[in-house]
Amino acid sequence: MKKISIIIPTYNEEESLPLLHEKLNKIMDELNNYDFEILFINDGSKDKTYEIIKSYREQDNRYNYVDFSRNFGQEIAMAAGLDYVTGDCAIFMDADMQDPPELIPELVKYWEEGYDDVYAKRKSRKGESFLKKFTAKMYYRVLQKMTNVEIQIDTGNFRLIDRRCINALKKMTESERNLKSMFSWIGYKKKEVLFDRPARVAGKTKWNYMKLIDLALNGITSFTTSPLHLATYLAVPTFMLLGIYTAYVIAKCIITHTMVQAFQAIILLILFFSGVQILLFGIVGEYLGRIFKETKNRPLYFVNEYNGEKETNEK
Ligand code: UDP
Ligand code: MG
Repeated sequence: MKKISIIIPTYNEEESLPLLHEKLNKIMDELNNYDFEILFINDGSKDKTYEIIKSYREQDNRYNYVDFSRNFGQEIAMAAGLDYVTGDCAIFMDADMQDPPELIPELVKYWEEGYDDVYAKRKSRKGESFLKKFTAKMYYRVLQKMTNVEIQIDTGNFRLIDRRCINALKKMTESERNLKSMFSWIGYKKKEVLFDRPARVAGKTKWNYMKLIDLALNGITSFTTSPLHLATYLAVPTFMLLGIYTAYVIAKCIITHTMVQAFQAIILLILFFSGVQILLFGIVGEYLGRIFKETKNRPLYFVNEYNGEKETNEK
């Protein structure tokens, strides 16, 4: 029997867990031709989350948990999930039921059809402010413009990935992680499934705007170094302006038989030196971008198939 693993990062989710537990049991009964592994990552919760998860484990050994020594954040919790997971595929989902477990059979169905990465795309989001929805939407669009890696728009971490994607992701050992961009980066055969994102069942979101801004910046920097080219791009118009203004000043001096005036000289000097500075920043940025890419030490490529045989990334 094939084994499906479900990775659930949990941080102070004591209120959501009972309902989640019930739904998971239902799904496991429904898909009875599979083995299951539920893998909770307890991310340093301060409430009863640990005790609850532990009791699930005592009742049913399909429930597994990794208990962190402190709160490391959702990204790192998911990284631990990749390390500990044992299934033939893994489903990432949140503990708060915003990723409806009812969707799991559909994810599995497409996996069986041969897709490597079946991701759930949000048709709508409930319980979220207009501002959050709007910023999220803009963010995805801007991000896509900045990179040539294909980005899955309006997609969170709720998805099913095949074992070979798990293995591929494990080869990406960078410590500043953004799993969502990594899912996109590894490629493989992707399939989208649409769903309406409900509001959280209980508790409060662990995110606030500061964290979201961090996440957004992290998303950009992990997808692309293109902001570093900004200085290079800015140097060009600055020098163009310098050229035009120089020509204008010289022409004016010749025609009117006057000397260059002090304010004109100052403008010229400002344009010249800011142009030089921006250019130098740009050069530093180009090298920085290269160093950044090198330090991530990512694999150069992932193989889909070798002579008709599927690459499993086992080695
Ligand atoms: N989470 C975690 N560590 C954290 C914050 C959140 O493991 O430091 C978990 C949380 O328990 C939930 C998932 O990550 O299962 C998503 O968090 P949340 O629902 O707060 O985020 P949102 O859905 O609002 O984006
Ligand atoms: Mg949530």
